[in-house]
This record gives sequence, C-alpha cells and structure tokens, in this order.
Amino acid sequence: DILADQIAAGEVIERPASIVKELVENSLDAQSKRVDIIVENAGLDSIRVIDDGQGIAADDVELAFKRHATSKINSRQDLFRVQTMGFRGEALPSIASVADVELTTAIADATAGRTVHLRGGKLVTNQPAPARRGTDVRVTELFFNTPARLKYLKSPQTELARITDIINRLALANPQVAFSFTHNGKEIFRSAGNDNLQQVIATIYGIQAGRKMLAVQGTDNDFRVTGFVSLPELTRASRQYITIMINHRYVRNYALTKAIIQGYESKLMVGRYPVAVINIDLDPVLVDVNVHPAKREVRLSKEDQLAKLIAQTIRQRIAQENL
Ligand code: ADP
Ligand code: MG
Repeated sequence: DILADQIAAGEVIERPASIVKELVENSLDAQSKRVDIIVENAGLDSIRVIDDGQGIAADDVELAFKRHATSKINSRQDLFRVQTMGFRGEALPSIASVADVELTTAIADATAGRTVHLRGGKLVTNQPAPARRGTDVRVTELFFNTPARLKYLKSPQTELARITDIINRLALANPQVAFSFTHNGKEIFRSAGNDNLQQVIATIYGIQAGRKMLAVQGTDNDFRVTGFVSLPELTRASRQYITIMINHRYVRNYALTKAIIQGYESKLMVGRYPVAVINIDLDPVLVDVNVHPAKREVRLSKEDQLAKLIAQTIRQRIAQENL
C-alpha cells in the first residue's frame, strides 16, 4: 500500500513537541472538552496529556499501540473532509518505541479503566485502573534507547518554545476545548473552552479582548474566510503570529501567509507584523493531495484566487479603520 508507506515515511517523532502534538490531537479526536498538558523540563523529563474524551475500551488498549492497527482516515483528502486528525495509526506505537509510556483510560459507564505501561515498544504491564472517563498518557525518558536522537534536540528553551507554539495553534484551532499547559509546575497557558476565539487570541498574544483585534469575513464562490487580525503597529509580532487554518485545521502555506501581509498597506508594516488568525472553509477537493499532511504544508488549487480574497478581505477591513 503505497499511500500507507508514504504516510509512514513522514511520521517521525523528532522532538518533545511532536509528542505533544500527537497526544493532543488524539485527545481532540476523542471529542475531549478539556485537555490538560503537563510538561517537565521541556518534555525531556515528562510529557503528560490528560483528557476527558471517549477513552479506549479495555480490550482495545494494547491494540492502540500496534502499528497500523488503527487508521481513522483512508486517504489524504479525507483529512480535510472528516473531523479526526489522526490518520496513520502509528503515533502511539512510535512514541512507545522511543520512551517509557504509561496510558490510563476508561470509556463512559465502564466499571473499570485500564493502565498499560510500555517501554521501548515492549509491553510491561496491563492492569485494571479506576473508571475515570478519558485518557491520561504520560511519556517519560524520551529517547532513552535512541541516544543519537537526543543529540538533535535543541536547548530546553527552544524545545519549550516549540511545545508552546504547537499548543497555541491547537488552542486557536479549537476554541471550544478548554486547554491548560503547565511547565515545571508553572501554568503557562489556559483557555476557557467557551468557543470564544477572540478570547483565546487575547490570552496567547496578550491583546485585550475586543479592543485591538478586527473581525474579518469574506467569501467568494469557493472560499469563506473568517477570523481576526490586528493592526500591525499594535504588535511586536513576527510572521510566526500568523495562524492559518483550513476547515479548522492548522496548516502552513507561504502564499496565503504572504496574502495576509499584502492585505496591509506597506507603510503600516515597517518592521512589524500583525497577529492574524484566519480560517478558510473550503471544499476538501481543493486541497492538493500531493502534499504530505504530517508536515502541515498544504497547497491548494485556486490558491491565487484565495490569496486575492484574503488580501482583499483584510484590506477592506483595515480601510474601515480610517487610519
Ligand atoms: P491514530 O490517531 O492515527 O488513529 P494513534 O497511534 O495516534 O493513531 O492512536 C491509536 C489509537 O488509540 C487511536 O486510533 C484511538 O483509537 C486510540 N487513542 C489514542 N489516544 C486516545 C485518546 N486520548 N482518547 C481516546 N482514544 C485514544
Ligand atoms: Mg493519533
């Protein structure tokens, strides 16, 4: 199966942030309303993700760690068609193969939960646990058996910044979910989960809700663009503070990022960038299937048309400000 092989090749647990991303996406796939992320020493000592989602049935817990045993999605275009983010069925086995993993889970109304402990890919124990609905995954001793990979990691500050960045993007894409992120016992981020995107933006970027973010909305025959942008002179942001989502999935796309910037008068942009969180609703057939979804880079058919719509939508909104 070429598709499976292609996808497998792209699946790499490179660093602590990749683990956080995979675990949190699993929590989101499980319809969690609340996701708590607890990290020690930039993930090198411990990464723990606790959710209140559907949980895993006792009989399926070991199966969840078997490569390709699960696959939520069958083709790459499906990725943008369905709600789930996982599609490869190999994040858990990959993580367990390079770390010590303890997963405790219970489904709704179960009389008992289950705790499995795996180390270097091998099952250590599988025991009954309290029936708390949801899943709690703890990953410790990352790369203990692959010391070469440890050497590729950057400083703890850099690894922490990458973790923070991915949590921010996932929180922006899921304002209906209450996230918390605690590092070395200190709370770094918390979102309310009340579906208020503007509030999530304000929490992440330190913008007073309702004051400096401008709501934007624009549509044409193929696309619907919605979100919030700031005026560039109000931020000290870099291009990194631009988040683009397609059908509420965080993606990266150079042309669309450029289009956001082009929506501003260049005189406003002297050495500054805006905060921008833009979602594009589109028919998934417009997503280019040749781009690997694990990398989050997407290309679109009609990309030029969309870029124009984005730039124009922002330009018109900024013009209303009478600067
Ligand atoms: P994928 O997400 O691609 O299916 P993973 O290796 O990430 O593969 O997860 C394997 C399976 O374990 C999932 O399909 C899901 O059934 C189950 N699972 C993992 N994490 C959770 C979670 N937090 N809540 C409920 N089920 C989970
Ligand atoms: Mg997954």
